Formats: sequence, structure tokens, C-alpha cells
Amino acid sequence: MSKFNVRLADAANRMKETDAMHPKRWKNLGKSMVDSINRGQAPRVLAVGPRVVGGLKRLYRKKPGHGGMPGTVFEVTTMNDGAFDRVGKGSVLYALDTLGVDVVDIWGNGRGTQGKTFESIKSFVSRPLEIREHSISGEDVMNFEEADSVVLACSDSRVQVHDIYSDAVVVSNAGNILSPAAIEVIGEMVGKKVPIIMVMGHTNCGAVEAAKAEMPDTELAPIVSIVKHNMERSDGKRAPEIENVAFSAGMLKGDAFAEYHGNKLQALQGKVKEARVEVLASFLDFADGTVKGL
Ligand SMILES: [Zn+2]
Repeated sequence: MSKFNVRLADAANRMKETDAMHPKRWKNLGKSMVDSINRGQAPRVLAVGPRVVGGLKRLYRKKPGHGGMPGTVFEVTTMNDGAFDRVGKGSVLYALDTLGVDVVDIWGNGRGTQGKTFESIKSFVSRPLEIREHSISGEDVMNFEEADSVVLACSDSRVQVHDIYSDAVVVSNAGNILSPAAIEVIGEMVGKKVPIIMVMGHTNCGAVEAAKAEMPDTELAPIVSIVKHNMERSDGKRAPEIENVAFSAGMLKGDAFAEYHGNKLQALQGKVKEARVEVLASFLDFADGTVKGL
């Protein structure tokens, strides 16, 4: 077996083991916590920044006083230079306008990324916000060469990928959409020989609900149009939430295409095929913490 295949097999085994452990961890949160998670999300903090730490929610869990329990932090991954694509912008507005979050943590790696993110946020919203800027220290930066997987997950504060896959690099937006920022991060990770890409959806997703309800004139509009596109273009035999995940995974595998990505997606599809990366799709059920593979 080639070195890459050994890595892939190891990573796939580890992911299966941790999938199996997660319902127990979920149960340990306690019934009242699981009940409150299932009532809906009410995050206190919007965390935005590039993926230099593998995923921001991980930082909140590691640092005392930051509040890292499921339901506390809504996370949006920026482009590597700190800017937002339209999906990232929609995700930020969803947190601030619909969910009513008024504390924004801007994380950056000291190369001017925080400044760019700060300017964007100020141009999106006019109401007063508490904006806190944080620098990511050396010890927080992940060794990307050692990452098992890159997981495209929802910003939803209840989704904590690092609790399931501790060696995953996470990219987040509302609706786990294969956005330009996601394409950038996934492409970079494929270049670093990550063996697995996973698209992870979840139950009660606000972005999918908005697409089902056809709410066109909200801050979620760019996201709704993409989720609707994904739901309609797949074969329609499964629930819309699942179709949304399956379509994004299909795009990564090269089986599907969406004109909203143009040549950036095509370039990524070529890279994924050539590197023989395994593409997985999964779904996290908040009722019992199970991760279901599609
Ligand atoms: Zn969601």
C-alpha cells in the first residue's frame, strides 16, 4: 500500500471510532443541555477568522473563560486574507440580525487579516457591536501536514466538529456550503495531502429551513439560493438537508457542477481526483449525537 493509502486507511478508521464515541459524549452533556440544543441555537459570540487554527470553536474549548460548550459560538471562516465571500457575509449577517449576537471576536494571524475583517463587519452592520480582536499565538496554529481531514461544516453554534474529529481542519459557514472560502481552504489542504474531505450537515439547520420556506429577502438570500439549487439539482429521494450535503460532496467528487463556482470549482475537482482524496458526506443528529454517513 502506498504511504497515502496507509494514511487514508488510518484516518478513516479513526473517524469511524470517534463517530461511534460521539453519542456517548452527547449523552454526557446531560438531558437539559441536549434539550436546549434541540430547542434551537442562541449563540453569545460570533467568531470570525481564517482557518489557521483548524477551526475557531476549538480555541474556545481550549481556553478557559471563552465558553466552548455547544450552543455558545457561531463560527464563520473568512478567506485567508481576512475578507468574506458572499456566503461568509450572509453567515455573519444571519448571526447578527437573525440570531441577535452582539459580540464579535475577530481572530487573525497578525498579517493584517484582522483589519480587513474588521472593516468588512463595520460595512455590513450599522448597529453597535462589541468587537474584540484576538491574535492567534504560535501554539494555537495547527500542524496542517498532520491533519486527518478537512471538514466543511455549518457555522451553527451547536455543531462542534473538533469534538468528534480532533485532527480535522474545519471550515464553517451557514449551511455548510462549498463557498469560495471553503474551496480555498479545501484546495490548500488537498495540496498538503490531507486524505479525507468531509461535508457535514446537521438536523434543524437554519439555512436549510430558510431555503425550504423560500424566504428570499433576508440576509440569508445568497445562501438560500445556493441551498435551494443544491436541493433541486439532486435526485430528490432524500430529505432536503441530506440532499444539500450530498450535492456539495458530489461537487467535490467531480460528479456535479454548479455554475456559481465557475473555474475555481473545476480546478479543485481536478486536484481532488488527482490526489485520490476520499470525499465523505455525513449528517449530525442533535437528538442523540449520532453521525450518519450518507
Ligand atoms: Zn446549519
